[in-house]
Amino acid sequence: MGESMQDKDPLKKYKEKRDFEKTPEPVPGEKSPLKIAKFVVQKHDARKLHYDFRLEVGNVLKSWTIPKGPSTDPGQKRLAVPTEDHPLDYIDFEGIIPEGNYGAGTVIVWDNGTYRNLKRDIPIEKAVDDGHVDIWLEGKKLKGGYALIKTGRGKRKFWLFLKKKDEMSHPGEDILADRPESVISGLTVEEVSAIKKSRN
Ligand code: MN
Repeated sequence: MGESMQDKDPLKKYKEKRDFEKTPEPVPGEKSPLKIAKFVVQKHDARKLHYDFRLEVGNVLKSWTIPKGPSTDPGQKRLAVPTEDHPLDYIDFEGIIPEGNYGAGTVIVWDNGTYRNLKRDIPIEKAVDDGHVDIWLEGKKLKGGYALIKTGRGKRKFWLFLKKKDEMSHPGEDILADRPESVISGLTVEEVSAIKKSRN
């Protein structure tokens, strides 16, 4: 056998050793950098109810906690607190984090989809570092232009998450109240928590 392109595949051994019909491990190629980057908004009923906004940036999900949740109303600027990077696989996570664990409580995927960096000349990594992210979301609930902006001075620095004014903005709408359900299961956090309690 001569040198073929396949021999130069860096993941050849990884693939040869595994039967992806039988293991839950990731299939190479699914995280190709050519695919469109994703985002997720997880509703997290922890000690304090909040929403976690995560953007696929490189090999991680850059994450912000939005205490009051996102809005489709450009008049509603929401505080966003940066939190630790999460692994890419977290993008599909729903479930109950048991009592006694970090972030104990119910998590649902409140929205998900793809995003585009609207700053063509600034890579998304740099935009995050600079504290000024302009993105176009194609979610099931959140659509159109959004910005994440670091503002304030010195110790009073904070981030804001806001809807930009465009054809996809909805002044006066309360998307959190109108669409409380998971985009994966269709269940609300209350329903997921109730299922768990009924099993105990
Ligand atoms: Mn959280």
